This record gives sequence, C-alpha cells and structure tokens, in this order.
Amino acid sequence: MLKTDKLEYNIEKIRGDFPILHRQVHNKPFVYFDNAATTHKPLEVIERMDRVYRETNSNIHRGVHYLSDVTTREFESARETVRGFINARNDHEIIFTSGTTAGINLAAFSFGERYVGENDEIVVSALEHHANIVPWQMLCERKRAKLRVIPMDDHGELDIEEYKEMLNDRTRLVAVTHVANSIGTVNPVKKITGIAHEHGIPVLIDGAQAVQHGSVDVQDLDADMYVFSGHKMYGPTGIGVFYGKENILEEIPPYQTGGEMVDQVTFEKTTFNQLPLKFEAGTPNYTGAIGLAAAIDYLVETGLDKIAAHEKDLLDYAAGRFAQIDGLKVFGAAREKISVISFVLEDIHPYDAGMVIDKFGIAVRTGTHCAQPVMDRFGIRGTIRASMAMYNTREEVDRLCEAIGKVKEMFG
Ligand code: PLP
Repeated sequence: MLKTDKLEYNIEKIRGDFPILHRQVHNKPFVYFDNAATTHKPLEVIERMDRVYRETNSNIHRGVHYLSDVTTREFESARETVRGFINARNDHEIIFTSGTTAGINLAAFSFGERYVGENDEIVVSALEHHANIVPWQMLCERKRAKLRVIPMDDHGELDIEEYKEMLNDRTRLVAVTHVANSIGTVNPVKKITGIAHEHGIPVLIDGAQAVQHGSVDVQDLDADMYVFSGHKMYGPTGIGVFYGKENILEEIPPYQTGGEMVDQVTFEKTTFNQLPLKFEAGTPNYTGAIGLAAAIDYLVETGLDKIAAHEKDLLDYAAGRFAQIDGLKVFGAAREKISVISFVLEDIHPYDAGMVIDKFGIAVRTGTHCAQPVMDRFGIRGTIRASMAMYNTREEVDRLCEAIGKVKEMFG
C-alpha cells in the first residue's frame, strides 16, 4: 500500500482520469516519467476543450452575438480561476501567453525596453532553463547591459551569500527559477525576492516547474512577475500565464501589438487598451485558457498538498531504489527537491540508456534538459531524467529500476 493512501490519495481514481496512461507502448504497459517536459491531460481538460469546439466556439471580446458572449465570459472566468490559483490581487494582473518562454520574452522586451540601459545588470541563476537565460542575454546584447549569474554548489543549491554580494545600484532585475527542471532543486524564492527588494530590485520568477507540485502564492512570495505554462500542469499546450504586479504592467510598454490591445488607432497615433488586454494582442488562445482553468480545477480538487505528499513519497522511494544500483550516480542533492531525479550510468551514454528504457515502454528524457550550463557545472554532457507526477506509482519506479538493470546488462 502506498504511504500516501493514508492521506486519502486515490491513485487508482487519478490514473483513471488520464486516458493516455492506459495505452501500450512497444507492447508493454506505458510508464511516463517525462513529466517535466510535459504532463498528460485528465478527461476534465480534454472534455472541457472539446465542449468549447462543439458547443460554444466564437471569437471573444468583440462579438455582440450570443456565442461570442458565452466564450468571452468563460475566458474571463478562466482568468479569475488563474488569479485565485496563484492568489494574485487582481484579475488584470493575469496575462495569457502561449507559455513560460513567451512570458519571459514578454518581460525581456517590455520590462527591458522600459528599465534596462547600458552598463545595467540582470541577475539570473546557475540553475536556469535556457528560456530564462537567452532572452536576458539578448536583451543585454541589445542594451549593452551585463548578465550576472548566481553560482550553485555541488548539491545544486544556490549560493545566497554570493547573490547578496552581487546586487548593486546597477542591478535592474533578478530573474530566477522557482524549481530547476534539470535536477529538481526548489530555490528559496521568497528569500531571494526579499533580498532583492531590500535594494528596490524587482524579481521575475520562472514557475514552470513549481505550480504543479505545490501551492504558489504570488503575494506571499512578493513576486513582481511570475510565469508558467499550462502544458506542464496537466493543461493544454499553447497557453501560459504571465503574472505582473499592476504597477509594473502599467509602466512597461506592450510587447506585441495589433488588434485587441488597442484603444484608438489612427495613422498618426495609437493608444493602448487597459490591462490585461494591453498585453494580449490578437486573438488569444481562449480554448487553451478555458482548458487551463479545467486543469487548475482538477489540481485544486485533487489537492496540491496531497499531490506534493504523494510525489515526495515517490521521490524518496526512487532515491532509495536508485542508491542500490551500482554505477548509478544522481545529480542534484538539494535539501528541497521536487520529484525529479537526474542520473547517469557509469560508462553508458544517457541517450543509449534512454533508447533501451523506451523499449520497455518507459518514457524518460535524456540530454541537457535545456539547461546546458547546469550540465557544464557538473562537468557532464547530459543525464537521464525521470520526472514523476501525481499519477506515477512505486510499481512504475520498480519497472524503471528493472529496465536500468537491463541497460547495464546490455552495455556492461
Ligand atoms: N522554464 C523551466 C524551468 C522549464 O522547465 C521550461 C520547460 O521545460 C521552460 C521554462 C519553458 O517552458 P515552455 O517550453 O512551456 O515555454
């Protein structure tokens, strides 16, 4: 029996809600451990989006007809659902984007345009996904500003003392990941934000790997900007959220321009729409937003605390099993970790291992996980990553261990 059963975590019911988990891959029952890349979708999400296309589909905001009004109300209600989910103060602080990458690019252009100049500094961390490095690097090139990096130790924890030293009167922004996708470290983002605020520096938090594993409260964190993707939290692809504090969103210029985000347009001058529409140029992914709200409802109904407890149990169980496998080395030993284990097998290329593991119907990810600097820091070319989600089980961990045994036999 799972430890988490005691917390009334009905894993059978949850697994039943995800149709894809019941398929076969290579004639074996499918095991999915690539959840940090994207998660699967419960019926609640699939059916809610299906209903939009079958019953209510119409472009939003500008229609006076019935279905346009219905869809507009569902879209705006999805915004309210997101607001509640991250406890933002206002609905209009929630901007729908296509995902985390789009949200960070929005910030790099809009915030960067308004606040960053020559010799200014942007601080990121050694644990970032490329999505929270490259947009800032390019901003720095455009503005002749400087990118600075908070280092990490061998456990994969950031050096907070070094970070404190790094901030100065040229620092314009700290952009840091809440949870590292490559090795699972949970960063002390509240502390990081507090330290930046002592210097009056705003903070953007990349929450792509955080919102699906536990409650996030942007007011409690005092995040100035917080971004995440729908598809990594059991919602649809192509939808994400950029949260910004009202005063920041009022100050910064729009990133993309066109229809919907305007107030008055003449050939001489254009004025912009109010928040949040100022940042939502063109037809938004309203079906995606409605699907995202369904995913949030599902997470909330299941209970984020229960999900976190279940995933912690899986992490501990997998770590224990992996520790017994000769030649298996885990990277990332932070005190606070989500259910991600990144590892290598001695003398076996991660890609070869991943290919063999796949033949057992088990999906893991291999490579740099879009975090090449993390791999460089550990002096490796890549890892095998098993990222576990609310629907995974100890039995699936056992199957992965068996498959690793076969990999070792084949290449040993
Ligand atoms: N940031 C982190 C920490 C991630 O893990 C990812 C994706 O893996 C991203 C950003 C980019 O997310 P997306 O591809 O959904 O824009």
